[in-house]
Amino acid sequence: MSRLVMKFGGTSVADIDRIRNAARHVKREVEAGHEIAVVVSAMAGVTNQLVAWCEAALKERRIFDAREYDAVVATGEEVTAGLMAIALQDFDINARSWQGWQLPILTSNAHGPARILDVAGDELIRRFKERKEVAVIAGFQGVHKETGRITTLGRGGSDTSAVAVAAAIRADRCDIYTDVDGVYTSDPRVVPRAQRLDKIAFEEMLELASLGAKVMQVRSVELGMVHNVRIFVRSSFDSPDSIDPHGNPPGTLICDEGEIMEQQTVTGIAFSRDEAQISIRQVQDKPGVAAAIFGPLAEANINVDMIVQNVSADGRTTDLTFTVPAADYQRSLDTIAKAKAAIGYARLDGATDVAKISVIGIGMRSHAGVAAQAFHALAERAINIRAITTSEIKFSLLIDAAFTELAVRTLHTLYGLDKAA
Ligand code: ASP
Ligand code: MG
Repeated sequence: MSRLVMKFGGTSVADIDRIRNAARHVKREVEAGHEIAVVVSAMAGVTNQLVAWCEAALKERRIFDAREYDAVVATGEEVTAGLMAIALQDFDINARSWQGWQLPILTSNAHGPARILDVAGDELIRRFKERKEVAVIAGFQGVHKETGRITTLGRGGSDTSAVAVAAAIRADRCDIYTDVDGVYTSDPRVVPRAQRLDKIAFEEMLELASLGAKVMQVRSVELGMVHNVRIFVRSSFDSPDSIDPHGNPPGTLICDEGEIMEQQTVTGIAFSRDEAQISIRQVQDKPGVAAAIFGPLAEANINVDMIVQNVSADGRTTDLTFTVPAADYQRSLDTIAKAKAAIGYARLDGATDVAKISVIGIGMRSHAGVAAQAFHALAERAINIRAITTSEIKFSLLIDAAFTELAVRTLHTLYGLDKAA
């Protein structure tokens, strides 16, 4: 017998038929003798509708009361939790729904993006034992203890609810049922030969998620890493009855690196076209200049990612190149222009038609020359590299956006990630 969390995302509970289909997945695991806590998202599109209503209700003021925003958007999950409990009962399974404040799931009072502080799991465990009761928990929501007000965890937050519940009840695994059947070596829409990974380490998944692989909320992966919750990403579209609850269903296990036997050097390749490049030409090469540039950007809440400094064409000054989110491009240029006197530079350039390609793998820690191979392969394809950053388990390259597909496919092949034709 295992104790499992089964989390169903919005598309997996998009309508009543899909909720009943998800309930059949739960039934299978219950009948296999497992203790189950289900965590649900709002039905697909519902949260967007609730957010739109909040915005429409506001006419005179510019920002709404975040506490009331939370009171509204938290309701999507409450509906699904109740419906899931009804569907389970219809299959003769003892089930009850739980809202965040009932359990409770305690959070900070940062309404909108609150953080989970504590989840009470003992009552759920007692009910598993004494009543064989399935807990159906509304994801995405919690309560702030001191004020008693409902909070939400940021968009995509029910992943984080699921992992937090799994930690609280000491689950053997947290299954994330979604509309894809796992985590891939790269985006299959761009790399047709991308493969599903059987396993990926928390740290690698964290990099992938931060780089925009939209499988899971970044914070849920962080939480899984901290509490060592094994997370299994799998499809809810598989027929519930075709799966052996004791077998090895298709999916990707996100786990501690110690659990991964055959570690490849490179695990995945991510890319993002949402970057912009800014170059400040002929900056005085003296102490305090970087502070004069990046201080104002930080104050403007602009996230600077890659930074490269090199000698200018004149040999006496330096050029500084960095990237910012494309959405902040104009604001960044304005911020730098405003600080021109303090920085002292000759020219300001920029480009938005750039892409960031990132190569990820914990095997890089113990292998030298992994990035050098990429430079070589891209040079052969005449792809120019505008900027580079590296860390222990990842390196990123900034290139012209027009070469995104070619670069990603080239590197995917280079690191032996292509599936057999
Ligand atoms: N329903 C919420 C959202 O759309 C939370 C979630 O689905 O994870 O962001
Ligand atoms: Mg989601």
